[in-house]
Amino acid sequence: MDARQLYSGLIRFHILHHASKERIFGLGMIEELARHGYKLSPGTLYPVLHGLEENGLLRSEEHVLAGKIRREYRTTATGQRALKLAKEKVRELFGELFEGEPVASISRLRPRVLSVRAANHRKQPVAKVAL
Ligand SMILES: [Zn+2]
Repeated sequence: MDARQLYSGLIRFHILHHASKERIFGLGMIEELARHGYKLSPGTLYPVLHGLEENGLLRSEEHVLAGKIRREYRTTATGQRALKLAKEKVRELFGELFEGEPVASISRLRPRVLSVRAANHRKQPVAKVAL
């Protein structure tokens, strides 16, 4: 089995998470995912965003920034419900994955504060996202 199949759900989950906190856009999300070790090209990410929108989990709008049109995405109410359910499943899986492991190995996973910056989007405040 291709490991990318395993990651595709994690990537969708990650996108929904960020889009529930703030407006996201393709290149910004590519940078964010790269920080987490997922290397995606626009040709891979955009179909994922479009698929999430087709499934009603994201909604997009075009915004004009410095004379350029940028498509930005937010999580819909349906997406919020899906995210909430998925978080419960992740919590359960997380517990099982790390069951019986010493706390020291889990402490590496303590929350970090990352700055998700919307490039060229000066009017939007920088959002601090606790991971
Ligand atoms: Zn993230």
